[in-house]
Amino acid sequence: MDLGLRGRRALVTGAGKGIGRSTVHALHAQGARVVAVSRTQADLDALVAECPGVEPVCVDLSSWEDTERALGRVGPVDLLVNNAAVALIQPFLEVTKEALDRSFGVNLRAVIQVSQIVSKGMIARGAGGAIVNVSSQASQRALANHSVYCSTKSALDMLTKAMALELGPHKIRVNAVNPTVVMTAMGRANWSDPQKAQGMLSRIPLGRFAEVENVVDAILFLLSDRSSMTTGSTLPVDGGFLAS
Ligand code: NAP
Repeated sequence: MDLGLRGRRALVTGAGKGIGRSTVHALHAQGARVVAVSRTQADLDALVAECPGVEPVCVDLSSWEDTERALGRVGPVDLLVNNAAVALIQPFLEVTKEALDRSFGVNLRAVIQVSQIVSKGMIARGAGGAIVNVSSQASQRALANHSVYCSTKSALDMLTKAMALELGPHKIRVNAVNPTVVMTAMGRANWSDPQKAQGMLSRIPLGRFAEVENVVDAILFLLSDRSSMTTGSTLPVDGGFLAS
């Protein structure tokens, strides 16, 4: 389906692996021009070989200064996907300062910083735009050993609404997608134990985890004008987990 994204310039964070990488592929296939931002150069090299024309930017988004240097002059961006995140799993009583700082630094602070850079450009050009934040079902349900991750995603849901409120008058839509488990590197690290996986699967009415494509389809819908009246939403891609 043509989503009308041809020629639009998109920026995707966390583009090296998983959902971000597949989002770049899908946007490239739709004819969008893509800036791919990630932390590991080898991932970006492979991505550019697969999708000629993609502009790679290698930066650790947990550094405010490095991010400003890398993206401060990124140029016009019409579509932004804030996808990069870390899931550092620790029991609540063992949560460390380092895990807390890194999690909020990547999962929330970088979203604010990159969105500021991009939306200031959108406002200056007066053309509007669309932003999708990749949140999680974990934003709305407590999961054992996920206290920090859940908190970053809960904050991201509210940030999505607050951004939608302030950026709406500039014709910038801001939405979130909230997937259940997806078997990417992140998903495999946290859900490969069959007993743990079964516990989660039993709470998902559709009885399966999400495929990467399920999440990418929702992201592309929210980036496209097919969702032109939707902003401030948190769209579950969770097989019904949040409904139960
Ligand atoms: P993933 O396979 O771990 O990929 C994450 C990507 O983000 C990697 O390319 C990683 O690069 C990059 N990244 C991480 N920290 C970064 C940083 N500081 N600076 C720049 N890039 C950074 O994860 P995923 O499963 O695709 O997850 C994508 C999004 O979906 C995340 O927001 C996650 O919270 C959300 N989500 C995932 C699941 C799941 O079960 N997988 C479920 C719900 C929501 P490096 O590998 O080089 O660090």
